[in-house]
Amino acid sequence: IEHTFSILKPDATRRNLTGAINALIEKAGLRIIAQKRVRFTREQAETFYAVHKARPFFGELVDTMISGPVVVQVLEGEDAIKKYRDVLGATDPAKADPGTIRKEFAVSLGENSAHGSDAPETAAVEIAQWFSGNEIV
Ligand code: ATP
Repeated sequence: IEHTFSILKPDATRRNLTGAINALIEKAGLRIIAQKRVRFTREQAETFYAVHKARPFFGELVDTMISGPVVVQVLEGEDAIKKYRDVLGATDPAKADPGTIRKEFAVSLGENSAHGSDAPETAAVEIAQWFSGNEIV
């Protein structure tokens, strides 16, 4: 059994889509074992996306992530990291398969509704950034 970290991004909370997205997560067999609504500070968003610091879209990415509240989550399941990436669909919603979160809900590449960790190491770091052990049940 594996854990992954998820963020329902500001475009999702703004449009009241967190329940609809959670329904797709649960339909895929992933269990939401921790969840809270928070607002990223600029510093937290910059740290979270530090790997993209040199990219031309970094400023826009950080601005978008702090434009409203987000829902941070820990998801549990068999092969959870890959399974959730599959449920998310391609980063660019125009390229995402039907039935995926990004195809159904995303607005654009910058406002693509949700994030999922890409590897066990990043999942562990991202989960630890937002949840203490006793919040994950
Ligand atoms: P995430 O890390 O959010 O799960 P991802 O792993 O699918 O997304 P990354 O390549 O890590 O994709 O990009 C991180 C985020 O940066 C994307 O989700 C997207 O919102 C944003 N992004 C990526 N490329 C661009 C771009 N060319 N222009 C604007 N925003 C972009």
